[in-house]
Amino acid sequence: MDLSARDITYCKNVGARRADILRNELKVHTALDLLRHYPYRYTDRSRMYWISDIADEDTMVQITGEITEWHTIGSGKGQRLSAQFTDGRHQVELVWFRGVQYIKLEKGVRYLLFGKPSRFNHDWNFVHPELTPMHKVTPEMTQGLEPEYPTTEKMKNSGLNSKGVRQIIASLIPEVKEGVPDTLGVDLRERYHLMSLTDALVNIHFPQDTPTMQKARERLKFEELFYIQLQLLRQMKKRENNEGYPMPIVGQRFNSFYHTRLPFPLTNAQKRVIHEIHDDLKSGRQMNRLLQGDVGSGKTLVALMCALLAADNGYQTCIMAPTELLAQQHYQTLTGMLKEGIAHVALLTGSTTRKQREVLHENLRNGTIDILVGTHALLEDEVQFYNLGLCIIDEQHRFGVKQRSRLWSKNLHAPHILVMSATPIPRTLAMTLYGDLRVSIIDELPPGRKPVHTLHYSIQRKASVNEFIRQQVGLGRQIYVVYPLIQENEKLDLQDLQNGYNELVDTFPQYRISMVHGQMRAADKEIQMQRFAQGETQILVATTVIEVGVNVPNATVMIIQNAERFGLSQLHQLRGRVGRGGDQSYCLLLTRNELTKETRKRMDTMVATNDGFRIAETDLELRGPGDLDGTQQSGIPFELHIANLATDGQLLERARKAAEEVLEDDPLLESEWNRIYKRHLDVLRVAQPIWSEIS
Ligand code: ADP
Ligand code: MG
Repeated sequence: MDLSARDITYCKNVGARRADILRNELKVHTALDLLRHYPYRYTDRSRMYWISDIADEDTMVQITGEITEWHTIGSGKGQRLSAQFTDGRHQVELVWFRGVQYIKLEKGVRYLLFGKPSRFNHDWNFVHPELTPMHKVTPEMTQGLEPEYPTTEKMKNSGLNSKGVRQIIASLIPEVKEGVPDTLGVDLRERYHLMSLTDALVNIHFPQDTPTMQKARERLKFEELFYIQLQLLRQMKKRENNEGYPMPIVGQRFNSFYHTRLPFPLTNAQKRVIHEIHDDLKSGRQMNRLLQGDVGSGKTLVALMCALLAADNGYQTCIMAPTELLAQQHYQTLTGMLKEGIAHVALLTGSTTRKQREVLHENLRNGTIDILVGTHALLEDEVQFYNLGLCIIDEQHRFGVKQRSRLWSKNLHAPHILVMSATPIPRTLAMTLYGDLRVSIIDELPPGRKPVHTLHYSIQRKASVNEFIRQQVGLGRQIYVVYPLIQENEKLDLQDLQNGYNELVDTFPQYRISMVHGQMRAADKEIQMQRFAQGETQILVATTVIEVGVNVPNATVMIIQNAERFGLSQLHQLRGRVGRGGDQSYCLLLTRNELTKETRKRMDTMVATNDGFRIAETDLELRGPGDLDGTQQSGIPFELHIANLATDGQLLERARKAAEEVLEDDPLLESEWNRIYKRHLDVLRVAQPIWSEIS
């Protein structure tokens, strides 16, 4: 019978109650779903240990030996049984504190001990080990790799611990061996040297040996990555057939800006990406492009020039920013560069008043406004355009894909989309997160920038830090001091910030110091930021509200307090706030003395490099992809169960190539020979609706 049609309730050792738990805890509904619940590690049951072989990293070990003596301690509920076990050379202690009355031990009998070693002082001991007399040990028990499964507390309480899950899966294996329908075609499997799904499912759970297990894992990982790529690439090809507003003209507005207003020559990278974008805009097809560039690489200018191209062709542009502050800053930058005449820019945020809105809505509808900058207030239905042709989305990862899709419906068909990301992400992640977008990269900073010097200090060295502040302010420079703030810890964090501010005020009574944080009223925040931006205050003490967007070229020092609490990409973003003028800039990372290995690596990476892509790679390595900013709500179409974007980069490249081959002559998967792929994609999409398809 089809394992994908068999309700989990009717599998051996399951029943109604356990089926409920499996559904709720693991989203397992069918026998096949459970077979897709893969082990997270294996114990090598063919390996016998000596007690002296046990190492800290060993999770489960087995030893043969005898019990030399035992005694019970305490009585009733708190009763504990302690036994001494010897392999003939050394001794370990075995401990039981549940079901003590059922344990029968004998002297002079050889046992197979199987369990998880833990260290107590300098000696190893085993809590609740499996102890089997040798004459009862079957050959299967000490053969091959034994799978261990992820479980939850609720599962364990119903006997669905790793062993319980193993038993249920084991009873399904004979049926699996009869053959399960494959999700990858034979020819593709041959080309990419992949196991059949049948073999892979048998060997992921009960592998013959390590190489076979690895082949099974590879096949299943490949399958996951392949279907993600297939989905993304199909989506991309579909969109490439979308009609796009044609923008062939390079006209008056673009040219007069380029020749009379541009404050500095474009970098070669800026020129290149403007060309790439313009090629899309004039193609007659809808553009879906990601513009990647490190902080400070000059993306805003590129955005503006693209908006001018759109305006030259009679289309409006909207530029959407993730925060009010950033929207305001874009607006100011744009109006500052454009001056009168070239294009009409407007700002729409949550704090735009009713009255202002009325005028704005009217001017949007009649086409007076060429460029609308704003926050997600832009998405509201009452915001209607005369002829929206281009949407530029800054710092995209902060918007849900669902939210974004609301922009699509603001004209007859979808406008061109340019997503700008300042968070450099590694190639593998980009291929997945933005796999349905064409990518343009600004890989060059404007000339004259000096790389920021980064130093890592422990907080004990406060005196040196203060000395440094004094010296820099003496040179006429300005300084950021940033404190971490997380919601769960908000009160204490704000207290830290306040204390830090007070200390600075006491230490430097001669300086003017601003403070901003998210709890302040928007207007107060604005005033404080403006004072710092205009050089009225020398020091700005802040939480991460300044993370994105703030541009004060005279600020040359970024001091990050409790730097251990920030992720790498956040640290890199913060550092990007300095080094924007011609003067040498510095970033001071202050941490406590004792650091975990991971934190030390983060600090060392920051000190060693200014390269955003290298930092992103390390970040991915240290944290894993699931944890990266915003990937939870990102565009990954299907959840990953076995593949890992941080470590399976090569496999991902192969999977993408395979997906490209499949779609090559049949982009929409309509042919008979691609039915297998279309069908499985449909299965996956039913399980997980894909928002990015809404376009
Ligand atoms: P980001 O890519 O981080 O958004 P911005 O667009 O804010 O970077 O640009 C950072 C700074 O670099 C701004 O002050 C901007 O005026 C300046 N800038 C942009 N392009 C150039 C260029 N070609 N030459 C010199 N300075 C530039
Ligand atoms: Mg920017």
